[in-house]
Amino acid sequence: MSLRIVVCVKYVPDATGDRHFADDLTVDRDDVDGLLSELDEYAVEQALQIAEDADDAEITVLTVGPEDAKDALRKALSMGADKAVHVEDDDLHGTDVMGTSLVLAKAIEKTGYDLVICGMASTDGTMGVLPAILAERLNVPQVTLLSEVSVEDGTVKGRRDGDTASEQLEAALPAVVSVTDQSGEARYPSFKGIMAAKKKPVEALDLDDLDIDADEVGLEGAWTAVDSAAERPARTAGTIVKDEGEGGKQLAEFLAGQKFI
Ligand SMILES: Cc1cc2nc3c(=O)[nH]c(=O)nc-3n(C[C@H](O)[C@H](O)[C@H](O)COP(=O)(O)OP(=O)(O)OC[C@H]3O[C@@H](n4cnc5c(N)ncnc54)[C@H](O)[C@@H]3O)c2cc1C
Repeated sequence: MSLRIVVCVKYVPDATGDRHFADDLTVDRDDVDGLLSELDEYAVEQALQIAEDADDAEITVLTVGPEDAKDALRKALSMGADKAVHVEDDDLHGTDVMGTSLVLAKAIEKTGYDLVICGMASTDGTMGVLPAILAERLNVPQVTLLSEVSVEDGTVKGRRDGDTASEQLEAALPAVVSVTDQSGEARYPSFKGIMAAKKKPVEALDLDDLDIDADEVGLEGAWTAVDSAAERPARTAGTIVKDEGEGGKQLAEFLAGQKFI
């Protein structure tokens, strides 16, 4: 039977662009270009490698995001994924990680899956908790932050590198994994891949399709609220200490003053 892999990919605002909050303190997504989160390219790459090693596999890339999020799906399709699912709904505006994980879980269940692969964190929200919440919602094992991953005989195996040790982990499928930026360089889409992606299916779903009420998501359904936001202050020039015999002492005083030592 075909190994069904779902890769969760996020469309994020370009970090090099001028990013702002809207009046309701959500991210102003209209005003800035977006792209496939770089950390999710590693997830697509690992899915492609697992599929190449399997007898038969199908990769679906899934995003919850605005109209333009299709660009992220197209990029993943041009890397080699087979099909895409795009969940879009006006009522998703302001959805936090709890709502996003709910929508992803329902879309994954509807699509069917053996293995879900996520990035280690998005490059905008950077919470890194979505894969764990997703596994809990799907009621399947989670094996997170893997720098090496493979699938064999219905089991996903991988290596998680910590500061002091590397762990070898495994879980029976179905399961959710997340992969780190150490898992292997993501491939560039080839010209052939880009052309082929234009013909690959992209299924559009909204909240009704997933049986989710509007009040379970959006700002109303969010478990978290942003109370205030302020522009980051401009960088100051910093302090330059000229060493005239007292440099070490001055450095120590500076660090102590900042409570670093
Ligand atoms: C239109 C819209 C408006 C939103 N407004 C808000 C808001 O106002 N406040 C708020 O807190 N959140 C909002 N969100 C949700 C937010 O952007 C994140 O998706 C969510 O909070 C998860 O947090 P994170 O990105 O830090 O996840 P992380 O835990 O850092 O992500 C880890 C991995 O989860 C997967 N993932 C994360 N998000 C998505 C996604 N959207 N689609 C597919 N895969 C995903 C990726 O594989 C990613 O690498 C909004 C989302 C949408 C689509």
